[in-house]
Amino acid sequence: MGKYIVTIAPPTPNGNLHLGHISGPFLAADIFNRIRRLKNDDVIFVCYSDDYQDYVVRKAMQQNMGRFELATHFANRIDATLKKTNIHLDWFLKAYQNDFYKDAIAFFYKMAAEKGVLASRDCEVPYSAEDNVYGYEAFARGTCNYCGEDSDPSQCEACANSPVMEKMGDLLSIFSQKKMGFETINREYLRLDHYKDYLKNHFKRNIVREELQQFVQEVISNGELDWYIDRPRAYGIDVEINGETKIIHTWFSGLAGYYAATKEYAHHIGNPGLHDEFWKSTDTRIVNFLGFDCSFSHAIVYPSLLSNAPGHTANWAPITNRFLKLEGGDFSTSRGHAIWVDDILEEVSSDALRYYLAIVSPEYQVENFEKQKFMEWLDHWFNPFIEQLGNYMEKHADEFTAINFSDASSSAAAYYRDTWNRYTESATFSIGKLAQLQQEFLQTLKSAMDAGQSGLGSLIQVYLVMGKPIHPELSEKLISLYNIKEPVLVNWLLTDSNVKVK
Ligand SMILES: [Zn+2]
Repeated sequence: MGKYIVTIAPPTPNGNLHLGHISGPFLAADIFNRIRRLKNDDVIFVCYSDDYQDYVVRKAMQQNMGRFELATHFANRIDATLKKTNIHLDWFLKAYQNDFYKDAIAFFYKMAAEKGVLASRDCEVPYSAEDNVYGYEAFARGTCNYCGEDSDPSQCEACANSPVMEKMGDLLSIFSQKKMGFETINREYLRLDHYKDYLKNHFKRNIVREELQQFVQEVISNGELDWYIDRPRAYGIDVEINGETKIIHTWFSGLAGYYAATKEYAHHIGNPGLHDEFWKSTDTRIVNFLGFDCSFSHAIVYPSLLSNAPGHTANWAPITNRFLKLEGGDFSTSRGHAIWVDDILEEVSSDALRYYLAIVSPEYQVENFEKQKFMEWLDHWFNPFIEQLGNYMEKHADEFTAINFSDASSSAAAYYRDTWNRYTESATFSIGKLAQLQQEFLQTLKSAMDAGQSGLGSLIQVYLVMGKPIHPELSEKLISLYNIKEPVLVNWLLTDSNVKVK
């Protein structure tokens, strides 16, 4: 039995979730969490709303709303949408005025200070006198000094590096589109160069996807490693540290967000000790799901910050994904080119949406969602299969009281089991591979049912249990209806492939 903290990079509560959001870290994390629980691992599964994010401030200004009124509204909607999609977090922390969050930020700040890796200096910050905004993040765009793509000054979506403001070309203010000037401001920064060797070794032990390995190597070798953590005169989280109020930005505070979420959850369930049981156990593995553009914070900053905290687990493994496109174009909420999760769930079941999004999940590269293809898959493949499966199970109800593989089905079952085990482990985890496997399995069952075969009961039971993390409602309904002995199947799924099924 393993111990896991599973996290999702926090959504920005300036709008609700569209398919692009769900297809990335949200669905992958939920499936991973369900698999861990199926395999009898201990898990705390958390996320939080990034209420202090600069983009929330910008949207609030544009809509003439209060910054936190907007954040609270969308944090609640996001929470509700996740539940509708059967993405069942243990805890979704609302960051606004949350003491657990502020305390955790202060904690990681103090740990870094004690380590001697914080420093301050005067630096040039973009400022638009015309619009009266500082260009720390959401209020400015320019050219990334690392990759040359268009970026905000905080986090480049194209190369995932953290641009150096003074070196960015053509910084324009978002509102007036005019060139920004600079103001000299004293800021605090984290000396990440201190962690170069630590990170090199860390990612030898905690295996992550190839492109993230490359990113980490590139940043360690060629990146600017003094990383600013505050935003004086602008927006962030006001945290009091040693009697002094500092405006810390939300990118520094991500690790604190996860830490605070498990703490608030532990208090909520009346077991405050649970937080330390997880964070202070060297057995605990922390697996983060995030878009590739959040790699700098999650793969460079957070493992470094965590290593400062004595007695805490250091097993930190980020799992990244790329973007999903919609009908060949980028999702754009401002241009209305988006499919909202709430809307599509009026038309289709959450199972169908989860299964299909897992198939087209942009794990390693950009992928494309086409509504028509989804509807065809649903009408000609998934829905007819559910009907056929239901009929078969009704007719052969006696096949579901035990598992008993015939010689013919045992090799097929072992193949599905072994492949499933390979892609459910964190180092090789892939919802795309799991969904493909489920499709292949579905085809096997469909062909056998089409041919009028019987004796498929054991294979179907394996299909339902293996597929439960992807389509929980369908699996739960049929497992319960036919009294399928799930623990027996799970034991079998976890057995070594050389063990013969009796
Ligand atoms: Zn870049």
